[in-house]
Amino acid sequence: MQNLDVIVIGSGIGGLTTAGLLARYGKKVLVCESHAIAGGAAHSFSRRGFHFDSGPSFYCGLNHPKSLNPLRQVLEVLGESLETVSYDPMGHYHFPEGTFPVYSNGERYRKEVAKITPQGAIELQRFEKPLLQLYEALKGIPTIALRADLQIIPVLLTRYLPSLLKLLPQIGIVQASVGEVMDKEVKDPWVRRLIDLECFLLSGLKAEGTIAPEVAFMLGERSNIGVDYPVGGSGAIVDALVRGLERWGGKLRLNGHVEQILLESGKVVGVRLQNGEIIKAAIVISNATIWDTYTKLLKPEDLPTSYRQKSLATPAVDSFMHLHLGIRAENLENLTGHHVVVHDANLDISEPGNTCMISIPSVWDANLAPPGHHVVHAYTLEPYENWQRDDRYEEKKKERSQPLFRALEKVIPDIRDRIVLELIGTPLTHAYYLRRYQGTYGPGIAARKGTFPGPQTPIRGLYRVGDSTMPGIGVPAVAASGILCANSLLN
Ligand SMILES: Cc1cc2nc3c(=O)[nH]c(=O)nc-3n(C[C@H](O)[C@H](O)[C@H](O)COP(=O)(O)OP(=O)(O)OC[C@H]3O[C@@H](n4cnc5c(N)ncnc54)[C@H](O)[C@@H]3O)c2cc1C
Repeated sequence: MQNLDVIVIGSGIGGLTTAGLLARYGKKVLVCESHAIAGGAAHSFSRRGFHFDSGPSFYCGLNHPKSLNPLRQVLEVLGESLETVSYDPMGHYHFPEGTFPVYSNGERYRKEVAKITPQGAIELQRFEKPLLQLYEALKGIPTIALRADLQIIPVLLTRYLPSLLKLLPQIGIVQASVGEVMDKEVKDPWVRRLIDLECFLLSGLKAEGTIAPEVAFMLGERSNIGVDYPVGGSGAIVDALVRGLERWGGKLRLNGHVEQILLESGKVVGVRLQNGEIIKAAIVISNATIWDTYTKLLKPEDLPTSYRQKSLATPAVDSFMHLHLGIRAENLENLTGHHVVVHDANLDISEPGNTCMISIPSVWDANLAPPGHHVVHAYTLEPYENWQRDDRYEEKKKERSQPLFRALEKVIPDIRDRIVLELIGTPLTHAYYLRRYQGTYGPGIAARKGTFPGPQTPIRGLYRVGDSTMPGIGVPAVAASGILCANSLLN
């Protein structure tokens, strides 16, 4: 492509939403993706007729006109939509003391909680109330209208004044941690652990580290809109974003690993690919993580020293052990798609191997597996340190995947006898295929201890998007980061 306006490094959901919107706004955009498959953490991959999600599988409001999901808003602007399957209960939580279904509908959910702790269910309702009020207040200002610079002020004042006024009483909770809301309303230890678990599943941090708006969004969407899964898996979302990008004249280049962001007189002038090719543009947007962008794509002297040090000191959430299985499906007619297993009630939920997430998306879309089979993805946190490809690697892989097998046995007791395809991924696999620093889930920036940075950087023409920018981790959040960045580049 000649005379590009913008190069986006990386085709994660953050990169693709930014690129798609900028193309829609008339910019000439090229996305350079290092991997052979687009989508980053959200890419799908296939082996022997099984189609796996590499990461996310839990979505809300992908296809609902009233959803606040920024990803849906971007798809709409790009002229795209997704075929989805709605389901409820949205999952099952398996605690050592028992299993219970998690319904999208708040009342039904609390009824299940009341079977375990009646007082806890009352406290849970009190906890949810201010968060749902915040969700209601946020409704009036669509994310697609937002930007991350001072021009947001006239936008809000001229177009969204009534909604802004509605939001003012909520200002305290906007900045609060979920832990603070929980401390006010919830004494019941079981419900406190439940809230910690739900926060952990969202942000990688427990209630005290998770910001209240994140949980407000999750609760509001799931109770008002419900959860859905894209037919074709997470790759269908990526395909829709790529189609949207290309419809508006943007281009995606796979196997296009960027080695260096090029600067002249402190200003961005383009990028150099691994094959030596130089591509020029006055604006470069990095969808790589903060650590990858500032250590691998720039030279140390390109950034002010203190800014660089502070950025690189951002704490990172651990990486993952993954199991991707193809299994025989006979006599599993009542199987449901999402499960969370906590093995040991006395261990912290964030302890590696203690909380295991399971998704079986072929329950919703049978075409993801060959006839008579299911695809299974299970994962749990695992630190990156101490992993190297040495003589012990294969043995350690087997050893460290055991909590995942034990979790799966809670859902499908004879799972080991059903396996026809087994792929075990380690933090090294995660870091390699997702091109992410230490295979991290993302920055562990705790509420009240810091905020996710915006898209701007100290370098003229260089911007960042994705889960190490505002508002943070998760597919809706990174789509929001794409909106904030793309809109900030317009007058
Ligand atoms: C196991 C797992 C489960 C999850 N489950 C959910 C869920 O159920 N629901 C949910 O909402 N969220 C979930 N998430 C979180 C969500 O998937 C991520 O936060 C989000 O997809 C990250 O998107 P991103 O755009 O920030 O970056 P990424 O997805 O990391 O994309 C960055 C892209 O940049 C590319 N890249 C990096 N460096 C270069 C380079 N030098 N040159 C070219 N390309 C480069 C990478 O290859 C990658 O494609 C999950 C995440 C994981 C890991």
